[in-house]
Amino acid sequence: MREEDEMTFSTDETSEFEAFDTAALRLTVDLAAIVDNWRTMARLSGKARTAAVVKADAYGLGIEDVGQALYHAGARDFFVAVPSEGVSLRPYAPEARIFVLSGIWPGQEGYFFGHDLVPVIASEQQVAFWTGCVAENGDHPCALQVDTGFNRLGLPLDDALELAQDSSRPASLSPVLVMSHLACGDDPMSPMNRLQLESFHKVSAAFEGIESSLSASAGIFLGSAYHFDLTRPGIGLYGGQASTIATHPMRPAAIAEARILQIREASIGETVSYGGMHKVDRDSRLAVASVGYADGYMRNLSGAGVPLRDTVEAGGFGFIAGHRVPIVGRVTMDLTIFDITELPENAVRVGDYIELFGRNITIDEVARAAGTIGYEILTGIGLRYERNYQVEVE
Ligand SMILES: *Cc1c(COP(=O)(O)O)cnc(C)c1O
Repeated sequence: MREEDEMTFSTDETSEFEAFDTAALRLTVDLAAIVDNWRTMARLSGKARTAAVVKADAYGLGIEDVGQALYHAGARDFFVAVPSEGVSLRPYAPEARIFVLSGIWPGQEGYFFGHDLVPVIASEQQVAFWTGCVAENGDHPCALQVDTGFNRLGLPLDDALELAQDSSRPASLSPVLVMSHLACGDDPMSPMNRLQLESFHKVSAAFEGIESSLSASAGIFLGSAYHFDLTRPGIGLYGGQASTIATHPMRPAAIAEARILQIREASIGETVSYGGMHKVDRDSRLAVASVGYADGYMRNLSGAGVPLRDTVEAGGFGFIAGHRVPIVGRVTMDLTIFDITELPENAVRVGDYIELFGRNITIDEVARAAGTIGYEILTGIGLRYERNYQVEVE
């Protein structure tokens, strides 16, 4: 066989498209957009310094590339959820402070002391453990999380205020940062914001001279009263809408696309996908894309009116050849079917990519169709995507 024969399809039917030399599923991460979004968050944060939250593999987009780009742009404070994430980030952010939100637990000392990670201490139990840790391993910075109404992690408010006044408190328990987290920051009208703000003022006053941090992406939009010394945006960096406020200045940070594997005609009355739940009400052209729920393209996105366990109302859609096209029938593990009947006959060809989200469909739109939030769409991005990182700054 000659070399060129190996490289190309040669039958008449398939010669109209190129060999699948790239993946059936591709994710383009726009690092310049992420950096831009971080700068936007920094601008909106006014006098406060702006950290970068890169937990869960930078919301599914890749902690190493994203961390490096943000570090390069000047970010010097990072937040991760668990110590192993901090270890992954460390080589790409050598001089940065890396805070670990889940705190420190017995057996994890090596991560924190060996890779210079800062535990966010969040309970009496952790206070006690940390005190012992520092006695054994030497002085090391920590942060303190205080609960102001979320009821997730954090010392109860009164315990934190007591700790601040405790003159016998070892120097090792002088945190470099005190922080709390808003429960309703995405809703500027929620009275909860002001209540948490008032409580957090008590905390920052009690730990006078120590930096304080209250706001994630959403809180940044609540205005300067909520900014304190350090803001902690995550989702905004990745192009998600953090707040219900109308203006949304973030750029999309990732484009997810799937190959069209087949285009087929379905006659009126036929059904589509598992359960035969979608009945074609006109002669239709369908495009079968190589993406499914195993890739994080959730089954809840299935076509309008297709019953799953819960009823889906709106249904999901893709973008191809300049048009939005609806999903029909159920999303399956590896494949999803889109209705391209409305498009001109030759607008879509086998081998083309359909956008699942990116420049034409926001992650928040996908999320609404799936009955979830953009965070879950991003962190669910599966392993089968071929990833490309774009670094050019526009
Ligand atoms: C995840 C998280 C953030 C970032 O939140 P976004 O809504 O993604 O900006 C900030 N702080 C804490 C404590 C978090 O858990």
